[in-house]
Amino acid sequence: MYNERNYRFLLKDLSSLEGVGIKTANLLKKKKINNIFDLLWKLPKTYTDRSLSSKIKDLRIGENQTITLVPIKYSFPRIRNLPNRVLCSDETGEIDCIFFNSYEGYIKKILPLGKHITISGKIGRFRNKYQLTNPKYISENSSLIKQKHNTYSLTDGISEKVYNKIINQIIQKIPLLKEWHSKEILSKFDNISWNDSIKELHKPENIGNYKKHFYKRLAYDEIFSTFLVNSEIRKKIKRIKKKRKKIDYKKQELIINSLDFSLTNDQKKVLKEINNDLSSPNKMFRLMQGDVGSGKTIVSFLAAINTINSGFQVALMAPTEILAKQHYNLAKKIFPQNFKVRMISGKSDYKEKKETLKNLELHKIDIIIGTHAIFQKKVSFKKLGLIIIDEQHKFGVNQRKKLSDKGGDNCDILLMTATPIPRTLTMTMYGDMDLSIIREKPMSRKPIQTYSKLESKIDDVLKFINKEIKLGNQIFWVCPLIEKSKKLNHTSAIKKYEYLCDLFPNQVSLLHGKTSIEEKEIILNNFLQNKFKILVSTTVIEVGIDFPNANVIIIENANKFGLSQLHQLRGRVGRGHKQSSCILLFKSNLSENAKKRINILKNSNDGFIISEEDMKIRGFGDILGFKQSGIKNFKLADPIHNSDLFLLAEKEIRRIEKSKEDISKFKPLIKLYDRADIINDIA
Ligand code: ADP
Ligand code: MG
Repeated sequence: MYNERNYRFLLKDLSSLEGVGIKTANLLKKKKINNIFDLLWKLPKTYTDRSLSSKIKDLRIGENQTITLVPIKYSFPRIRNLPNRVLCSDETGEIDCIFFNSYEGYIKKILPLGKHITISGKIGRFRNKYQLTNPKYISENSSLIKQKHNTYSLTDGISEKVYNKIINQIIQKIPLLKEWHSKEILSKFDNISWNDSIKELHKPENIGNYKKHFYKRLAYDEIFSTFLVNSEIRKKIKRIKKKRKKIDYKKQELIINSLDFSLTNDQKKVLKEINNDLSSPNKMFRLMQGDVGSGKTIVSFLAAINTINSGFQVALMAPTEILAKQHYNLAKKIFPQNFKVRMISGKSDYKEKKETLKNLELHKIDIIIGTHAIFQKKVSFKKLGLIIIDEQHKFGVNQRKKLSDKGGDNCDILLMTATPIPRTLTMTMYGDMDLSIIREKPMSRKPIQTYSKLESKIDDVLKFINKEIKLGNQIFWVCPLIEKSKKLNHTSAIKKYEYLCDLFPNQVSLLHGKTSIEEKEIILNNFLQNKFKILVSTTVIEVGIDFPNANVIIIENANKFGLSQLHQLRGRVGRGHKQSSCILLFKSNLSENAKKRINILKNSNDGFIISEEDMKIRGFGDILGFKQSGIKNFKLADPIHNSDLFLLAEKEIRRIEKSKEDISKFKPLIKLYDRADIINDIA
């Protein structure tokens, strides 16, 4: 019978199941299977069909077969290394069942003399006689054996039989859950219930049947629950009332007119969206998504200026000191003279820091720029009105939620990311925020020319960069990290540095993960000031830094990087007015598939398109930033194959939001599918 709390059975500990002891439970826990629900997604890979039985005379050696027979004689030799043996027969012949390491008592119990027993296993032959060694499928009840037995990719230490027993037990006990979806949604999946879908999912004949309605329904449940949680967070944040900011459009125009470029249409559109949020009575929680070099910084600065002009303070957080410094320098240049701009850095001395903290509390500072240090507990603001976070793609939902709580109700939040990802992923990862997208790149930008070259043709490359250096341009040379026994290795960068030093004396510097922060900053500053020409590095340079004079990037061993990552790397150049180039070096000729991928990169300069195409070829797991993002891994849903379900879920969420539908009926769904802390205060 249905009961409101039925779903809780699924959240029970595994040890509540028959036959699951502490040992098995612990083995499963190691695989992150903590409760009954988790185990439902461990799907069979194949199955062994034990449903047809044979007579002994017809047995085929080396195959899994099922026989019904009668044990007729025990032989327990009591000599070390000699196995116990049970002679069995049917009306057509005899077979030996051989047991290593099994006790007499146990054997007598499972193979009682004179009884009809069904047994299944791989048939062997020894000294002209059939035998079955350590058979696992033995029962007096033939129907338990004569069926299709699923094969799972097994967790060490748990046998297939035990696995099947556990899963079958769960499938039988699966509680009836009240349907949470509307009739319209359900009709898209042939009206199949959650319970029936799970049962179908585990049927041997349905292995790999991911186009069937039961599979889609379950995938939809996953997607929908994620979106629902996102929607709840968004709604919750939006319900927070704040003091409206009064935008001074005249002052905004003054700043825009003082720039040496005009804003792109997308920049204008996004600025408008942000301004609308700032001046609304509800808290802003917005993500600005745009490719590298799409000009996010200036938009966020205009938002900051508008916030300050309406009497509030702003905090701007960058992922690194260098980027913070670059933002700081730009702010000093662009912001009105009377604004008090400060930077907080790991390097500021104690006295200076103390002074800054005091002035923040007294509202004697309008905008503070720094790394995560600006969110330490001891930092407090008199009137914080906006938090801006640059390049935040390493934050998960939980961290974002915490962030939005910070700064108090009057504080709007603007996040920026340069990781263009396909729409289905954006919906999944950032659905808790409102979204502003900059797709268009500044007009003055010439598209980067992308070439691929064999490493053996390095002389051509050297000729090319020689020419560029003579024209006064600078070059990035990127070497991938070599992973050796889990320790990252910088030898390839060091070797390349030495090699290039010989060819271009006094013109080369090196940066890698072991370079100290201070040293790194000096090197990057020298590069910015054109004090040397070639910067050899591993991928340690943040994408956000602007090097207007660098127009060539060489990427070695380019097949070690994903397309989105290559695109981001190449975005380090091409920010000035000059024609820029990206040269991808390969150790050997490209395979057809690799060629296809590289062509995507050559033919497009749009990070959204590139990531979409890359995802189609490689699957979504490898897309840049996806793994680190803290996003839960879907068990069934796939952003590529199920993109229709993502759209359906989004539409349904919008409908629910609009109609202000009561969402308490989704409580079991949320509890089952998403047990993150953030859910607790919703359901
Ligand atoms: P990102 O979106 O990667 O953070 P930035 O904001 O750093 O990009 O902008 C990259 C460069 O483009 C900067 O040098 C910036 O001054 C310049 N820029 C921004 N907007 C425009 C524009 N509309 N026209 C021309 N150049 C622009
Ligand atoms: Mg940036």
